[in-house]
Amino acid sequence: RTEETLLEVKNIEVIYNSVILVLKGVSLSVPRGGITALLGGNGAGKTTTLKAISNLLRSERGMVTKGSILHRGERIQDLNPSDMVKRGVVQVMEGRHCFEHLTVEENLLTGAYTRSDGRAKIDADLEMVYAYFPRLKERRRSQAGYTSGGEQQMVAIGRAMMARPETILLDEPSMGLAPQLVEEIFGIVKSLNENEGVSFLLAEQNTNVALRFAHHGYILESGRVVMDGAAADLRENPDVKEFYLGMS
Ligand code: ATP
Repeated sequence: RTEETLLEVKNIEVIYNSVILVLKGVSLSVPRGGITALLGGNGAGKTTTLKAISNLLRSERGMVTKGSILHRGERIQDLNPSDMVKRGVVQVMEGRHCFEHLTVEENLLTGAYTRSDGRAKIDADLEMVYAYFPRLKERRRSQAGYTSGGEQQMVAIGRAMMARPETILLDEPSMGLAPQLVEEIFGIVKSLNENEGVSFLLAEQNTNVALRFAHHGYILESGRVVMDGAAADLRENPDVKEFYLGMS
């Protein structure tokens, strides 16, 4: 069986403020049904790559100046946010970004804003999200701003699931979380991938965790892909061990 490419980024360049070239020709592909990790240190260009895909660079004065981005074979480069979500591409931003004054449940429901398939289906998906994140069900009436960092990351992922996406772009899910919570969240991402068929492209500085949960990895350095491969192979690669896993 040949693998279907769901998302394809071809040789993109990104420039900020009309002058700073940050992505210098990045290409990658995300197969349907996979978890793909985008790795690299601080400032390598991971967030920029995700925002280029979801067309969120404009508010940062960034622009894709070269290359193309295809989802299911269709160009998605100029879509507005709601059309992007309707095409099945949803981004979970770094730092969670909950609506602090809304309850957990209200936050989750905002994820369904582009849907027109009726309240019954949306309620069924709310229960689906609560099944993956039982903690959110317990806290459904709490104001999101008063929940823990881990719970806010769960809200952000749950909110993305409420759009019924095909592809989730997940930016630095481990950021600021204790190791045990990182394991828990990656475990849930894996089960969403396996049981709900959602494909993930996740940006992570935590190479160790990302390569245990992902199927494939790309390593970015200064705006270029310097290596890519099956996660199992990258874990054994001497350069990856020395520079990214810190165990050589
Ligand atoms: P991090 O983990 O810190 O988010 P990253 O790999 O996601 O790192 P990016 O945030 O994509 O890296 O940043 C890549 C480069 O682009 C950095 O050198 C950064 O300083 C620069 N950059 C990011 N945003 C802007 C902006 N709005 N204007 C100018 N330069 C920017």
